[in-house]
Amino acid sequence: MSADRRKKISKKSIPQPTLSRLPYYLRALYVLDDEGKKIASSADIAELVGSNSAQARKDLSCLGEHGHRGVGYNVKNLISVLERFLGVSRKRRVILVGVGRLGSALLRYKGLKERGFEVVAAFDVDSEKIGKSEGGVPIYDFNDIEDKLDGEKIDIAMITVPAKAAQEAVDRALQAGVRGILNFVPVPVKVPENVPYRTVCIAAELQLLSYYLKGTKYGAKGKKKRKENYK
Ligand code: NAD
Repeated sequence: MSADRRKKISKKSIPQPTLSRLPYYLRALYVLDDEGKKIASSADIAELVGSNSAQARKDLSCLGEHGHRGVGYNVKNLISVLERFLGVSRKRRVILVGVGRLGSALLRYKGLKERGFEVVAAFDVDSEKIGKSEGGVPIYDFNDIEDKLDGEKIDIAMITVPAKAAQEAVDRALQAGVRGILNFVPVPVKVPENVPYRTVCIAAELQLLSYYLKGTKYGAKGKKKRKENYK
């Protein structure tokens, strides 16, 4: 085993942009594994995340030397390295607050369970929704959230309420014992410093992609250039 592998990799030593790409590499590796691929090149992985092989190699090297020059990465081995690093090798219990258009879609999304995230309960204030279920997840009254979660070990709350209700949804989820927040609402909310907190904003992702599109071209010429990059 190389010194690199033995060295404990601290999250702080990995640049934030690299950290945020790691879950996408993991997803790409699941796809390759499902396809029965045992060994994958950095180009195979990069293609599935819309990146390039040099970037993928550089990012993955932050986790130690797991690839073999001219051969590639052992898919199952790299999956377990990434799962351990990201802390997803154990199952996570999740709740959702706000069962509207977005919340309902998330509850119906089977990919979460497949990846070890079990949504065990949802909460809303709408009496039409309370007592029903969506995607097999029971919907409870948000006003009872502390009672309902008493004694439950919940890792993450996904917040999908209107902007004006976001801070209260976060505060009460934390009061109910939830440890981390994934906020889909496009307003900043306050959380204590020690609470892991992430936001998801599709508009911001599109803006970022627009930035990367600057200087790329439409049409066959652009396609040819992209193909060359994957070699
Ligand atoms: P929606 O109006 O369809 O659903 C909101 C739900 O929240 C409703 O069921 C409502 O009853 C419930 N609700 C309201 N107050 C609540 C409270 N205090 N506690 C619990 N539930 C409460 O809205 P939507 O279209 O599903 O959007 C939900 C949120 O997600 C919005 O803030 C929207 O801006 C955001 N959004 C983000 C993205 C993204 O990319 N991150 C994409 C789409 C929507």
